[in-house]
Amino acid sequence: MKHRIVVLGAGYAGAVSAGFLARQLHADDFEITVVNAEPDFVERLRLHQLAAGYDLRHRPLAEMFAGTGIQLRVARVLEVDAGRRNVTIAGDGGIDQLEYDTLLYALGSTIADHGVPGVEEFGFHVASRPAALRLRARLDELGEGAEVLVVGGNLTAIEAATEIAESHPGLQVSLVTRGELGGWLGPKARRHLLRAFDRFGIAIYENTTVTRVEQHTVSTGDGSVFTSDATVWTAGFAAHPIAAAAGLAVAADGRITVDRQLRSVSHPDIYVAGDSAFVIGDNGRELPMSCASAGFTSTQATASIIGDLTGREIAAAALPYVGNHISLGRRDGILQLVDGEARSRRGAVCGRPAARVKSAIVGLSGWAVGRPNFGKLRHHYRAVRETSTELVAR
Ligand SMILES: Cc1cc2nc3c(=O)[nH]c(=O)nc-3n(C[C@H](O)[C@H](O)[C@H](O)COP(=O)(O)OP(=O)(O)OC[C@H]3O[C@@H](n4cnc5c(N)ncnc54)[C@H](O)[C@@H]3O)c2cc1C
Repeated sequence: MKHRIVVLGAGYAGAVSAGFLARQLHADDFEITVVNAEPDFVERLRLHQLAAGYDLRHRPLAEMFAGTGIQLRVARVLEVDAGRRNVTIAGDGGIDQLEYDTLLYALGSTIADHGVPGVEEFGFHVASRPAALRLRARLDELGEGAEVLVVGGNLTAIEAATEIAESHPGLQVSLVTRGELGGWLGPKARRHLLRAFDRFGIAIYENTTVTRVEQHTVSTGDGSVFTSDATVWTAGFAAHPIAAAAGLAVAADGRITVDRQLRSVSHPDIYVAGDSAFVIGDNGRELPMSCASAGFTSTQATASIIGDLTGREIAAAALPYVGNHISLGRRDGILQLVDGEARSRRGAVCGRPAARVKSAIVGLSGWAVGRPNFGKLRHHYRAVRETSTELVAR
């Protein structure tokens, strides 16, 4: 009987891992099944662009996995029973159960609503393709002068606000955040960010906590009420509740707590990669949810699975946190590197060169997913890091 490996999620982490496992493990001994809610690999890094009106390249998973021996199940994961080692899924054929011997959990993340009432009912977001398409439809139906309120002050909020403002110049875009907009950035990057917001005409409300979202208003902790025709919730991400419901040890944001080899600390036959993993990186701090982290954690999780199942030595993949590449619309951007303490460096690359690097990274990340190979991936991330360091040093 073959050893059954089930991979949950075919995003940046799951798709790469599945492909690599299929290459490295012999099909006579191992059976690999991937479960993903959508039939396509969705480039999540571009979802704010999709919402703003640009189209994503169609990347069917069935084509990506053709010839690899991977079995694809297009279905939604409903539940993981970590004790019985099975997964309940719902697809076109109805509810089904999949048994596994080894599980790789890579379901990514969704929005964190922080318990604010009305977010789910009245808010829009860009954390998944269906959600981004819903926002896109809403933006398209809004007339000149309609108000869009973006909630959040971090990467996705910045990218969403600028992308919407650039693509829909007739809309009035505002951003409200409980802290400072891009407050973690170094001085050069932050100055550039604020100038870009000014150029786009995006109003900024800092140190303002949203307490309720309704259909046409947003209330805040200081008693103010903003009117809004579309409220875009980009106030952070959390892992799907499936992991916690399965009884896995999780962090406060629902991410699965793992060891350095990306094994669940409570259920070592479950490996985790991408946004779903709560792992301490090489700098001694938790690795942030990001595409780069998805690459590093999937590399490590894959190596660990292969090592544990074959007795081969487990290669140690790097788990670094290098910095952020932020787009400000299509022609502007910021490249902010961080130091060993995860603090932003003073310098940064801003403007068109940063936009070009960001665009190359997004393109390469999508390209790499279809071609899983440790060497190439390592090379890709090293090349990105070296280019970034070089640009910042200039
Ligand atoms: C708009 C936006 C812009 C971003 N920009 C950047 C950026 O510039 N740089 C950066 O580093 N990071 C960025 N991120 C974060 C980055 O996209 C994530 O960190 C990355 O996608 C994590 O990879 P993953 O494989 O863990 O999750 P994902 O890529 O989200 O993949 C998860 C997969 O699981 C599937 N799935 C989820 N739930 C279920 C279920 N119940 N059943 C079946 N399948 C399911 C999904 O369909 C998806 O295919 C951005 C995120 C967003 C939303």
